Amino acid sequence: MKRFWGKAMTDIIIIGAGPAGLTAAIYARRAAKGVLVLEAMSYGGQIINTPHIENYPVAAHISGFDFATKVYEQAKALGAEFKFEKALEIIDNGGSKTVVTAKGEYEARAVIIATGSRSRKLSVEGEDKLIGRGISYCATCDGAFFRNKTVAVAGGGNTALEDALYLADIAEKVYLIHRREEFRGEQSTVQKLKERANVEFVLNSRVTKLNADKRLQSIEVTDNQGNVRTLEVSGLFVAVGRIPENQSFSSVIELDEAGYAASAENCRTKTEGVFVAGDNRAKEVRQLVTATADGAVAATEAVKYINS
Ligand code: NAP
Repeated sequence: MKRFWGKAMTDIIIIGAGPAGLTAAIYARRAAKGVLVLEAMSYGGQIINTPHIENYPVAAHISGFDFATKVYEQAKALGAEFKFEKALEIIDNGGSKTVVTAKGEYEARAVIIATGSRSRKLSVEGEDKLIGRGISYCATCDGAFFRNKTVAVAGGGNTALEDALYLADIAEKVYLIHRREEFRGEQSTVQKLKERANVEFVLNSRVTKLNADKRLQSIEVTDNQGNVRTLEVSGLFVAVGRIPENQSFSSVIELDEAGYAASAENCRTKTEGVFVAGDNRAKEVRQLVTATADGAVAATEAVKYINS
């Protein structure tokens, strides 16, 4: 990376090292552009929480962690630079952009925002205090703590379904609590869950109370008719969707009502030289394959922008 007015200068800064950001890094490096990837946590994004990926072409079966590691190593081998710093702001200087982190400032011709999303909370009283004491947002990270115990999963999307399936192999019993009759996630996974003797669906219901001593002891679930049922569980895995991580960049991108970044299919935003890719982008289908596709598109467009 060159120095520019005392700041480190590169061609493209990619914010976020999930599947979208890592794929963008591969494409940008193959176009011989300088690439700095800024990542607040560790590489991989939310896919590292997925135990089994079975819907990515060619990889009939791979864990999310293995997938992320392979893409990270591919991007590194191609020469992408990584810094594990949280990007706090993007300043548009016209022909260049400054990305401010807690540790410094970096300058680039173009920026790709591939920040993904964070877990939505249930917003039930006591939830925050019980994180790590029975409440978890990651079944693959914490599931092993609940071996032969009774747990619940809240949510009806693919994450909740896959979490329930994963936990069914570990826990004695799994309640799957969803606020509607129909699941949002894939029917093939619903079918697998129906075949598990230790999985019980609790439909048309929401978690309304957490009962705890030092740790979670039980939860109260209220159905759509107002009937309350107490479930004795030692773990509650919350999988009720994601919140896009765009707020810090709202001065350079337009956000929709839910906080997703508006862009055309070419991943361009309202600011020339700023692109978005992955789950934080407003779009219909949020899957691993569409995240990596976004990364390819955003990087290709960023290269075109720089070369124009
Ligand atoms: P999601 O698809 O948005 O599903 C969130 C679920 O939580 C929905 O069923 C929703 O209910 C429920 N919910 C939302 N707010 C709630 C609340 N306050 N109380 C109770 N329930 C609430 O989220 P996700 O499952 O995390 O998946 C995110 C994206 O990643 C999706 O596009 C998904 O397909 C994708 N994904 C893919 C894979 C894979 O390809 N293997 C794996 C995991 C995730 P309603 O249905 O009633 O709205």
